Parts: sequence; structure tokens; C-alpha cells
Amino acid sequence: MILLVKVDFIDLKERSAKLIISDTKPSFVNALRRVMLADLPKLAIEDVIFYENTSPLFDEIIAHRLGMIPLPTDLKLLVPRDKCSCGGKGCANCTVRYTLSKEGPCTVYSGDLQPEKETWSVVDPNIPIVKLFEGQRLILEAEAILGRGRDHAKWQAVQAPAYKYYPKIEIDQSKLDEDAIKKCIEICPKKILVEKDGKLVVSDVEKCSLCKSCMEVCEEGAIKVSGDDTKFIFKFETDGSLKAKDALIESARILEEKYKDFLESLG
Ligand SMILES: [Zn+2]
Repeated sequence: MILLVKVDFIDLKERSAKLIISDTKPSFVNALRRVMLADLPKLAIEDVIFYENTSPLFDEIIAHRLGMIPLPTDLKLLVPRDKCSCGGKGCANCTVRYTLSKEGPCTVYSGDLQPEKETWSVVDPNIPIVKLFEGQRLILEAEAILGRGRDHAKWQAVQAPAYKYYPKIEIDQSKLDEDAIKKCIEICPKKILVEKDGKLVVSDVEKCSLCKSCMEVCEEGAIKVSGDDTKFIFKFETDGSLKAKDALIESARILEEKYKDFLESLG
């Protein structure tokens, strides 16, 4: 049997996405979420050579800050260093190099990292790294490589991927009087219940958080709130290193690879 999963984008921006995934199961959506967190590759600074650091911060702190800066990740151009034909030495296929040279008084920002090629310029140039006072200097070289969120948070391109069951709200108008309608409207934390022509209606079902507060304040059976376990609202953001749609496509591809590997290992 082939399961056909249906996807509808509610909102797709460069760095965030909200979509409805239907005709599937919680296990599938959760697997996709886990892949986004742990397996999706991203470029981040791994090695830093300090030539001079007379700033108030230790080398290690600056190296850590540099590591956390989102870098543009083109997965078509880069391969992971441990799978590269250079044997892990570091070459143009697996490594992106940056230089930084600043003298105080100034604040060193992420945008001061100079890449070899313009295409690798940092995504957000305004992240402060360290403040230099008169005469203090920071001169360094940095190497960025692909990595995965499972190894370090700096390689996690997607933030807070999450899903919820698609809300289903059934209302039995005959069991609701004026007082109950008022109570329901008041108690709903998402303010999605409204009165229309003396009836209780739902204004935006997708905002429902399935808290079931409305069920508690009225007669049994008047309102039934449940989650559809075959339809999910899935949302996530990226740190800018990958476009939201690319992150989703790549995660789905990784998931496919995992299933293929599993099949092959079965012989
Ligand atoms: Zn290489």
C-alpha cells in the first residue's frame, strides 16, 4: 500500500514555514521534526586560528561566538569534510575560510568576517562578537565546515520545529444557552469562539490549542474538541543559513535515505 501524504503551505517565508501535512501519522511528522533538529547539515565555523587577541575575551569564548554565527549553507556546493576526497585535510569542496582583522575602539560584528568569496558572506552582519577598546586587536582566521545538530547546536539550522494535531471542534447548538455561549467565549485563551446570530461559532480553527477549556465550562456534549491524528499543523523557523523550503526538502530527502538504508540492511 502506498501512503500519499498531502502538503499545503499556510505560510512560507524565507526563514519560516507553516504547513498542513495530511493523510499521515504522528510518527512520520515526528520523524521529520527529529531529522530537522539532528540530521540536517549546516555550515558553521569549527576551527579558529588566532594571530592576535588583546580583546577582553578569551580565545575560546570568541571561537564559540564565531561558531554560533549563521553562515549561508549551499548543500549543492559543499560536502562534509569526513566524506571529502581531500581525506579530511580541508579543501574548497568541504571548507569555507574567513578572515577577520579589527582594531579598537570598535565593536566587532559578524559582518566583519571576510569570506574568500562574496557568496559565503554571513547571513546576519549585525551580530556583536566583542567590543575592542583603544589599541586592542583581534586578528584571526576561521574555517567553517558542514556539521549536524546532533553534534553541536551551532550546526542546527532549524529552530523549534513543532507540530500539533489539526483541531476539530464540534458544537451541538441545542445544548448551549446564552449563558454557556458567553462562558465559552470568555474562557477560550485563543479567542477563536464567537457568537453569530445567537449561535456559537469557531472563527479560526487552526489557532485552537486543544486546551478543551470550552468543554469544561458547558454542559457535557455541547462542545467536543479533539485533534485529528491524520492531519497536522507543522511549523518551524531557520536561522537563515538555509531557506525554509530548502530545509524542509533536504530533511525529507534525509528521511528517505534513512528508510532506504534500513531496507538495504534487511538484505
Ligand atoms: Zn575537502
